[in-house]
Amino acid sequence: MSEGSFNPFKMAQQQFDAIAENLQLDEATKELLRNPDREYHFNIPIRMDDGTYKVFRGYRCQHNDARGPSKGGIRFHPQETVDTVRALSMWMTWKTAVVDIPLGGGKGGVICDPRNLSLREQEAICRGWVRQIARNVGPLQDVPAPDVMTNGQHMLWMLDEYERITGVKAPGFITGKPLGSGGSLGRTEATGYGVMYTVREALKELNIDISKTTASFQGFGNVSQYAIDLYTQYGGKAIAVSSWDNKEKKAITYKKLSGIDWKELLSITNRFGEVDQQKALELGYEILPGDAWIQQEVDILVPAALENQINASNVNMIKPTVKLIAEGANGPTTPEADEVIKARGIWVIPDFLANAGGVTCSYFEQVQCNMNYFWTRQEVLEKLDQKMTHAYHAVSDLAKSRKIYMRDAAYLISISRVAEACKLRGWV
Ligand code: NAD
Repeated sequence: MSEGSFNPFKMAQQQFDAIAENLQLDEATKELLRNPDREYHFNIPIRMDDGTYKVFRGYRCQHNDARGPSKGGIRFHPQETVDTVRALSMWMTWKTAVVDIPLGGGKGGVICDPRNLSLREQEAICRGWVRQIARNVGPLQDVPAPDVMTNGQHMLWMLDEYERITGVKAPGFITGKPLGSGGSLGRTEATGYGVMYTVREALKELNIDISKTTASFQGFGNVSQYAIDLYTQYGGKAIAVSSWDNKEKKAITYKKLSGIDWKELLSITNRFGEVDQQKALELGYEILPGDAWIQQEVDILVPAALENQINASNVNMIKPTVKLIAEGANGPTTPEADEVIKARGIWVIPDFLANAGGVTCSYFEQVQCNMNYFWTRQEVLEKLDQKMTHAYHAVSDLAKSRKIYMRDAAYLISISRVAEACKLRGWV
């Protein structure tokens, strides 16, 4: 997130350039898709609780909306940079395109640290963000959602401000709302379940019976918990999970060869996804170093914590038993590690395909809000399964027919869909 030497937007552009070359996109299309269509930078002046005034910096990037309204989260982070927001907005364009939902890509942010702000101050920032951008976002233009350090409460304050300004009820303006206030059933489990729908399909193709497999997970937050839930329902055995221990300031791996009961582990996990080590010991877990999750003799690895976690320093620790890596997190594999994985022939379900269940369910939330009619949890999950399964096979069919890497196939599909939409509209 900090700018440092690593610039996420440069990386996103490099990834795009490589695929654009492969697709032989013309110069104008390349130029169009290398940069956001629009971006807004603005001040958000707030009266703080102590009576002083402070000005926060807000952003919204709309990378591309040729396929439908822009879609993407709003992050609150002290080290937020406009290049991070740009990169994430571009990745959202590819993510919505790879699952073929009629949305584009956007992302927003505010440079602030909600951990040091009262709820009233956070509410003022939310309302200030909307006041600055209300004319340029909306159910038919650009639909925000929660992201790093924002949640359903922030979304409702933003919705309320938007409705006050426009004078209409517009619950489809924003997603990630709480249940009963326009939220969708199934959203909590959508990303983790989405990861597992694609894992299930990949294993079928690899002729592996999921109920005879074992898996190791990095992270035990929203994505990982529900991925393990569904994996266990399918008969798989999760034997290791790592998570961050904030007291010791390091990651720890919890291992149970007989299989992890995710509900039991959840009962000793706090809301930040940190497991209580002492209680884990009492429940019979082995306590191992943070990196141990990647060194397990399992069939499947699911990195679902943070970016850059499979890198040059640990990629060679991956055991020969591993046949599949499903990227639950965004950007968990560095380009160097990716080359090693590719050379070893491990089947990879790339991040923007594997974890697209979240945005797909947000799209369902928007659809339900726009028609003011809500589906049952089962209906939501069935529709999610269909979308994820279909998207997985489109990518894997292309990877197999062209004998290319899954990540490249996913990029080829999404970038060509977006390029085609721009062309049909007569933009380039
Ligand atoms: P979360 O905050 O709920 O959980 C993160 C987990 O990772 C926690 O268990 C934490 O302890 C653990 N962790 C942090 N640092 C670690 C480390 N160094 N080693 C091991 N574990 C560590 O987050 P989440 O919502 O589950 O998201 C996880 C990833 O998935 C992120 O990359 C996020 O961007 C991505 N993602 C999430 C969603 C979603 O809907 N939640 C959607 C798409 C992508």
